[in-house]
Amino acid sequence: MSETALIGIDLGGTNCRAALLAESGEILRSNRIPTRVAEGREQFLSRLFELCDDLLSFAENEKRCVLAVGMGAAGVIAEGGVVTVSPNVAWLDGFPLAETMAKGLRLPVTVVNDANAVAWGEAKFGAGRDFASFLTITLGTGVGGGLVLERRLWKGSDGAAGEIGHFVVDPGGRPCKCGSRGCLERYASATGMVCSVIELLEQGKASVLKMLPPAELTAFEISRAARSGDAVALRALQEAGERLGQVLASVANLLNLDGVVICGGPSASLDLLRPWLEAEMRFRTFAIPFKRMQIVRGELGDEAGIVGAATLAYEAVMG
Ligand SMILES: [Zn+2]
Repeated sequence: MSETALIGIDLGGTNCRAALLAESGEILRSNRIPTRVAEGREQFLSRLFELCDDLLSFAENEKRCVLAVGMGAAGVIAEGGVVTVSPNVAWLDGFPLAETMAKGLRLPVTVVNDANAVAWGEAKFGAGRDFASFLTITLGTGVGGGLVLERRLWKGSDGAAGEIGHFVVDPGGRPCKCGSRGCLERYASATGMVCSVIELLEQGKASVLKMLPPAELTAFEISRAARSGDAVALRALQEAGERLGQVLASVANLLNLDGVVICGGPSASLDLLRPWLEAEMRFRTFAIPFKRMQIVRGELGDEAGIVGAATLAYEAVMG
């Protein structure tokens, strides 16, 4: 066997995706299984091992030697790959995920927080490759954050850093599942944007979005309506952009970063968010950090987490 490969896994509350990658970050084969949280841990792990076996067989046929496995999961991940707290997969709480996977696969396994995996993917192969210090913000169901300082992931003392989604933008605002109120993610996530639209529709504002069944009211539809000039959709994006700009002003003032990389589905609307985001930042940020911090869109899309987790696993093996 001459060439090497890595396995990257992104464990989400709904789906678990896995891929075989070359060291260059190129994806050679990818697959997914439903997570099915209700089935419990043992069932899930046996299906996950099958998924990995398929990738390992593929690697063997391609005469590639798999060096390590990297896995991104939501929540607080302690050193050694123990999941301290998992917000959407309860049976992972306190579970030694890395050790269990390593025993089952007979390979070195690294487990990292999913937002940190995204940050490292973009740092190595994506929009963060030219930044020494930057923040990734992933807009999805919530808002995740991953901080890279001088080309190193900043995970915090307990692996709990980066929770940019819970910066307060309105102290008495919308309740958040974290127990606080008015957190950024209640306005700037895909879910937050939908919430803004529902509030406006309830006030009787006219919008093409009123025609959609509730299940089809998504950030994608809001973006589409905004592009055709729909006032309600534009107002929801303005809310998201302004709140994001307020938080990024504080981030710039605190950390004087080179850049911010915006990831996740709604990042496709960055051009629409940007005028409001930049207006808030210009108003609230000191001139020097404002001038320095570039706001760009992620380049790796859905694959950022898988690529980042695999790369962190590789680096752990290579020292
Ligand atoms: Zn919160």
